Amino acid sequence: MREQLEEIRSRALAELGAGATEAQIENVRVRVLGRTGELTEIMRRMREVPNEERPAIGRLINELKSEVENRIAALSEELKRAGMERSLGEARLDVTLPGMHIPRGWLHPVTLSRERMLDIFSEMGFEVVETQDVEDDFHNFGALNFPADHPAREMQDTFFLPGGLLLRTHTSNGQIRVMERRRPPLAIVCPGNCYRRDELSVRASPMFSQIEGFMVDRAGVITMGHLKGVLTEFLRAFFGADTGVRFRSSFFPFTEPSAEVDISCLLCHGAGCRVCKQSGWTEILGSGMIHPNVLRAVGYDPTEFSGFAFGMGVERTSLLKLGVDDLRLFFENDLRFLSQFRAASEAAS
Ligand SMILES: [Zn+2]
Repeated sequence: MREQLEEIRSRALAELGAGATEAQIENVRVRVLGRTGELTEIMRRMREVPNEERPAIGRLINELKSEVENRIAALSEELKRAGMERSLGEARLDVTLPGMHIPRGWLHPVTLSRERMLDIFSEMGFEVVETQDVEDDFHNFGALNFPADHPAREMQDTFFLPGGLLLRTHTSNGQIRVMERRRPPLAIVCPGNCYRRDELSVRASPMFSQIEGFMVDRAGVITMGHLKGVLTEFLRAFFGADTGVRFRSSFFPFTEPSAEVDISCLLCHGAGCRVCKQSGWTEILGSGMIHPNVLRAVGYDPTEFSGFAFGMGVERTSLLKLGVDDLRLFFENDLRFLSQFRAASEAAS
């Protein structure tokens, strides 16, 4: 019986070697320790063992049993650990690495400027209306009193599309679109993108944005005085209460009389510097009383209605406000530039 036990032991331990699989381990467990296994069979035959030998054989059986049990436990533990290591390796997961920080975005400086500009006009009672980027010749030029031979209509300035359409070259089409479908009194600002065949440079971009504004009421109610009041109020709210504002006589096809508006140079405050070419002033926008031909084009009788209109470039106004000297910075999306406006964005939201 001792020999039999020794045989069971050596066979079991040989099968429970370092490379044993889960199935092999289970086989040994059932064969040796199972209810009808080898050790159960030995115990059943203990009757045949002479009395004086029984304690020693019993001890041998118990030792063999715990030796096999311990070996199986150790191997199972080893298999479990190897399995976990394998799955961790496959997932390439290092649970000790810190989490990935996903930065929050913020508003672009031009968006911030445009929102601020529209807020100021809204506070003055203007309604914000967006109109289309793709236009026809009538709404972009004809109705705005551009003569047929006006240089802006030349191929080199305008992106023409098939079917007589084009990309609007200014937001003034908003004036025509709104007046065509509504009757005065109107106080409207139209923000939007405009397109011209310019190379991207320090001062120009093929795509830029403008805000067009206009106010129309019964003839004589809205005067040049209102135009000056609204724009002066706007410019001082946007650039600062001590900003100087002046109106200079000018010419545009769609206004008569027309005025260009300057603000005192933000760098030298009027003393004269290189940026303002020693004049102390910077040109900021164009404006005027809406031309009678424009009113006629939308079906208004110029003896019945009158009003003013103005338009300004959002990027250009932002450049001046932020003291930036290169328009391209707004389009390159360099985070080192854009991140400087994070605090302003968070303050505005
Ligand atoms: Zn200056």
